[in-house]
Amino acid sequence: MKSQEITKRWVDFFVSKGHTAVPSASLVSSDPSLLFTVAGMVPFIPYLTARETPPYSRATSVQKCIRTGDIEEVGKTARHGTFFQMCGNFSFGDYFKEDAIKFAFELLTTGVENGGYGLPVEKLWVTVYEEDDEARDLWLKNTAIPAERIQRMGKSDNYWSTGQPGPAGPCSEIYYDRGPAYGIEGGPAADDNRYVEIWNLVFMQYQIENVKSKVEFDIVGELPKKNIDTGLGMERLAMILQGVENMYETDQVRPVIDKAALLSGKEYTSAESADDPHHVDDVRMRVVADHVRSALMLIADGVTPSNEGRGYVLRRLIRRAVRSMRLLGVEQACLPELLPASRDAMKGVYPAVELEFDRISRIAYAEERAFLRTIAAGTARLDEAVVLAKAGGSELSGEDAFTLHDTYGFPIDLTLEMAEEAGVAVDEATFRSLMQEQRQRAQADAKAKKGGHADLTVFRELLGQGETVFTGYDELESESRVR
Ligand code: ATP
Ligand code: MG
Ligand code: MG
Ligand code: MG
Repeated sequence: MKSQEITKRWVDFFVSKGHTAVPSASLVSSDPSLLFTVAGMVPFIPYLTARETPPYSRATSVQKCIRTGDIEEVGKTARHGTFFQMCGNFSFGDYFKEDAIKFAFELLTTGVENGGYGLPVEKLWVTVYEEDDEARDLWLKNTAIPAERIQRMGKSDNYWSTGQPGPAGPCSEIYYDRGPAYGIEGGPAADDNRYVEIWNLVFMQYQIENVKSKVEFDIVGELPKKNIDTGLGMERLAMILQGVENMYETDQVRPVIDKAALLSGKEYTSAESADDPHHVDDVRMRVVADHVRSALMLIADGVTPSNEGRGYVLRRLIRRAVRSMRLLGVEQACLPELLPASRDAMKGVYPAVELEFDRISRIAYAEERAFLRTIAAGTARLDEAVVLAKAGGSELSGEDAFTLHDTYGFPIDLTLEMAEEAGVAVDEATFRSLMQEQRQRAQADAKAKKGGHADLTVFRELLGQGETVFTGYDELESESRVR
C-alpha cells in the first residue's frame, strides 16, 4: 500500500467517525517554544490546554514533522527519520480512552478490502502505563489482544506531560512484531527493534503542578475536559505494509537511495546489522535519502540556510547529506540529482514541492556549492597540518582544528574524518576548550556592547515570535559527534 493510500484511509476512517479533517500545519511551528512542529498535536496545543475553544470536538490530521533530536538514529535504526508524517486523531473533551482504543484497533485490523490496514492481530502488542489498569481492561474488553501481549511501562515511556504545570496523562502504545529475524522475544519491553512502535495514544486526564521534571510532579486533580491525542508514524506503518526493511525504503524515500547508489556506484543491500560489511555504506545512503527529503520539505515551508536556529538545522541536514555522499566517494555536487528524485517521490502528496521547485532547488544547490567550496579551501590547510603532525609524530593540534573551524568554516567532524583517513589523531580536547573560550568571549562582547541579548531581537522579529531560539552553538558542538 502506497503512502498516499495509507493517509487517505486514515483520514477517511476518522471522518467516518465524526472527525473534522484538518490540513497539516507548516513545519515551522506555531508554538514559540519549539523550532519545528514535532508532533501532530502541536497545532492543537491551544485547544488541548483549553486556552482556546476548538471549532470542533474531534479532529484528524496527517502532520508534517521534524525531529532533529532523532538525527543520530537516522539510518541506523529502521524507524527514525528527521522528517516524517504523523497521522493523528484528537478529541477535545469528547470521547476518551475507550473509543480511542476501539478506533485504533479497528483501523489497524480491518481488512484491506474493507478500508483498513489489515494487520494481523497476532503481530500486535500493546503497552500501558503501569498504574493505568483502566486502559489495560479496556484493551482486554474491546479488542482481541490477549493479556500476555499487554505490557506495563513506567513514567519515562508511558506518561505524557509538557514538563510544565497543566494537562498530563498516561499513554498506551501499539507495537508491531517484525518477527524473530529482527531480535529477541519478549515484547516491546525486551526489544524495540523487533517490536516497532507504531502508534501512541495519549490520555490527557490530569492536572499536574509542582513539576520538577517530566517524571516528577504532583497530580492535583482530574481535568474537567479530558482529551485524546494520538500519533501514528505513517512511514513506520508504510514500512510494514510495503514489506520493506526500514522506513527509508518506503515509496516516498527509497528513490533517493537508488539515486545515491547510482551516483556512487555502490550497491544498496538493506544491511541492518553493524557487523555486515555493507552496513556503513547502506547507513550513508539512508542518511542521504532522509536528509535530502527533510531539506526539500523545510525549504518548501520557507526555511533558508543560516547559522542560527531553524536555518542552521537545514544547513546541517544539507551538509550531512553532502558529506555522506562524499564518504560514498562522490565529491562533485549531487543535490541536482538527488533533490529532483525526492521531489518526484513527494509531489503526489505535496504539490508545492513541484510548483515551487525552482525556488527550493536554487536555495539547496547554492548551499551545496558553498559547502563544497568550504571543503576545497580547508582541505589544503588541513593537508599541511597533517604533514606537519606526521613529521613530528604527533596529533593534529587543537589550535589547527580550531583555525580550520574558525577561519575556513571547516566543521570539526570533517577535520576528524579527514585526519583519520590520513592516519593522524586530533587533539579534540584542546579544540573544545578553544571553542568554549570563543563562546564565552562572544557572550561577554554581546553583553558589553548591547547590554544583554539585544542583538538577538532582530532574529526574534524575523521569526515573528516572542521567544529567542538560538541553537547554533549547541548544534555546532554536537556536530562533531555526528558522522
Ligand atoms: P520511538 O520510541 O520509536 O523513538 P517515540 O516514542 O519517540 O518513538 P512518539 O513521540 O510517541 O514517538 O510519537 C508518536 C509516533 O510517531 C510514534 O509512535 C512513531 O510511530 C512516530 N515517530 C516518532 N518519531 C519518529 C521518527 N523520528 N521517525 C518516524 N516516525 C516517528
Ligand atoms: Mg523517539
Ligand atoms: Mg517510544
Ligand atoms: Mg512513543
